[in-house]
Amino acid sequence: MPMIRSAGKRLRSRAETFLRQWWGPNLTWWDFATVGAPSPRFDVIPGDPLARLGLSADELEDADGPVRFRGTCRYLNAASAVVSHSVDDTTEWLPVCLDVMDRYGIKSTVFVVTQREPLMSRLWPRLRQAIADGHEIGSHSRGHPCRVPDSLPFCLGRFTIDEIEGSREDILRNSGQPHVWSWAYPCGNCADRKFAQRKIARAHYVAGRAYPCELQNRHAVPDLQDYDSNPYAARYTQIVQKGYSKFDSKGRKVAILGRTDPAALNGKFDEVVAAGGIYSFVSHPQMLDYGADGFYERHLAHIGGRADLWYVPMGPLYAFRTLSMETKVRQLRSTSAAARFAVYNALDPKIYNGSITLEFETGAPVTALADGRKLAEHGSGPVTRWDGAYIRSAGKNLLVTVRPNTLLEFRFPE
Ligand SMILES: [Zn+2]
Repeated sequence: MPMIRSAGKRLRSRAETFLRQWWGPNLTWWDFATVGAPSPRFDVIPGDPLARLGLSADELEDADGPVRFRGTCRYLNAASAVVSHSVDDTTEWLPVCLDVMDRYGIKSTVFVVTQREPLMSRLWPRLRQAIADGHEIGSHSRGHPCRVPDSLPFCLGRFTIDEIEGSREDILRNSGQPHVWSWAYPCGNCADRKFAQRKIARAHYVAGRAYPCELQNRHAVPDLQDYDSNPYAARYTQIVQKGYSKFDSKGRKVAILGRTDPAALNGKFDEVVAAGGIYSFVSHPQMLDYGADGFYERHLAHIGGRADLWYVPMGPLYAFRTLSMETKVRQLRSTSAAARFAVYNALDPKIYNGSITLEFETGAPVTALADGRKLAEHGSGPVTRWDGAYIRSAGKNLLVTVRPNTLLEFRFPE
């Protein structure tokens, strides 16, 4: 048996060497073994979430109490619309681009190519600062394999576990981020292929951003104004960047469209916000003009700092959707003058580290506490964090923003 096993091992390693030489440099046997594998849920933890709060089902109360739960808000702090930015590639332009975004209060997913050295090593300190400032670092692979247009052999050979999971590990090791939520397909390649989407899901990303076919200029205005129904081939509203050229797989130079007219850019944003949607836009920092007169800053000045909007990167936004849908809010039996609610779910809190907003009808002024701690009023101004804990009055109702798996308590003044 051991002899057969070692012969099998030798054969496998020879096959791998051959495949790597002729097909994809990072291919492994496992890439083929798992090509048809499903993507089971990776984001729930076993056990009873109520028990984790120290509660049991018979403490739940169905009859209405003095405070009534009205529902979960569509966006955090009941914002009227959402702005989500993402920028691609590891280039020397990243720090200046982040500085500009911060000037206008825009939050982005920074999609980096994790093994583009020596630049990446120099960028990590600035990226750690970006995380502290409310941005997200997403993966744009380790080496940015790209073919225009893609092909099945290309996707099978170059869209490897090493690129997908290796880049995730690079980010976790260098950034201190608790999870890597977002993936962006290099050159938009392979995003339409189910096996590629499953591979992204199996690597525990919660969203994969597409970049639809540049050769047909479909990348310019995919015009998505909401969540994408398929988070693993997620489109966006529009690009904000200059035109460029690239070589297709036959070596021909092709001009690719940009989008730099502030009136057109701002008009599209206005349209999405008026409809209460999600405005998501994509830029490449190396394809921008910096300076207050340039199209990029003029657009950011138009869309930034609005008090009724929520500014959030892509991954935490998609995580928020799951969090909102899967969190239960149940009233608890109460003997005192207070009303108590359990806010709970079975989701992994390392991945779902954000908050949701719940609307309660209180009838009278109340004090709200989460896990015994009094919640402060959210000041006026935009929502720029995805993990806050606060309240906001909305007429006779109270909006409560908390991280789930918490015990909410409402106390009436004596
Ligand atoms: Zn790219």
